[in-house]
Amino acid sequence: MKQLKVGNLILGDGAIPIQSMTNVPTSDREALYAQAKSLIDNGCDLVRVAVCSRAEAEICSKVFVELNAPVCADIQYDYKLAVLCSDLGFAKVRINPGNIGGDDKVGEVVAAAKANGTVLRVGVNSGSLHKDITAQYGKGAEAMVKSVEQNLRILERHNFFDTVVSLKSSSVALTVEANRLFRSRFDYPLHIGITESGIGENAVIKSAIGIGALLLDGIGETLRVSLSGDPVAEVVYAKKILRALGKDKNFCEVISCPTCSRCNYDLASIADKFQKATASITKPVKVAIMGCSVNGIGEAGDADFGIAGGREDCVIFAHGKLIRKLPFNEAYNELLKMVTEFTNE
Ligand code: SF4
Repeated sequence: MKQLKVGNLILGDGAIPIQSMTNVPTSDREALYAQAKSLIDNGCDLVRVAVCSRAEAEICSKVFVELNAPVCADIQYDYKLAVLCSDLGFAKVRINPGNIGGDDKVGEVVAAAKANGTVLRVGVNSGSLHKDITAQYGKGAEAMVKSVEQNLRILERHNFFDTVVSLKSSSVALTVEANRLFRSRFDYPLHIGITESGIGENAVIKSAIGIGALLLDGIGETLRVSLSGDPVAEVVYAKKILRALGKDKNFCEVISCPTCSRCNYDLASIADKFQKATASITKPVKVAIMGCSVNGIGEAGDADFGIAGGREDCVIFAHGKLIRKLPFNEAYNELLKMVTEFTNE
């Protein structure tokens, strides 16, 4: 897998940088700063910003110098803006060379990218395939890959290879198929995600399935969970997806049983309370909150620590072995103390 440096990030080294995109007016310096800072503070590794004029490029550049963070410019057709963003030090520029009006213009964009160490991103959205492509290849994964390939070949003719690729659709199945097909033919880093996924939990589920399927195949070097609304949510869910996949282990993972009639306490509230109490932990630790001691200790045998049982028979256990019995309230506090001490070591 080809590795690519994007600002202070390396794509292809095993870490999966999280991306998001601002949606306040780029011309509003204060709003852009506030939203970009909020994204970065919540764990966004690379912020993308739509840049539609020279003034916006300059505002954006200053904001991200102030934030000391890499930024990706999203350019539609204006190659001069792409050159300017590159010259201003943007880490990455999203532009499709087939859309900017000729080979000489591509040459200027490439020359600026080479001179400044800028990465380019080319991408295809299944909804906007060119009619020449659909006439020959239809509207499926093959057409998406051929569309991206056309853009890559334009850049390669200019001897430019520092390119990140995206192939997105609002269909989970098509996105996964297109990315798998691309990876079987090319080793450019992939920016993965489901586009136009919608709002709320339906959109999150679509993103989690699509991104999860690809990452479990080892496909995807950076990701975005595209959601309508506040982009900070994109970052929050991206982190949850990486944690669920084991790509980020530096946190306190709280597992809990689904409960059954053997459980005689409000396990869901206790597990939620414990999760909130340990949210700031950045060391890998797995904690189980289980409904009964008969089955719970064994079922959560892979947890580092846990409690099982409720009011009458609460036990603390570690790695599947009972440590001690305590009244329920004391057991909760003791578990929290043990986990805190372990992660502070
Ligand atoms: S751990 Fe006990 S309470 Fe929880 S689901 Fe299993 S048997 Fe039921």
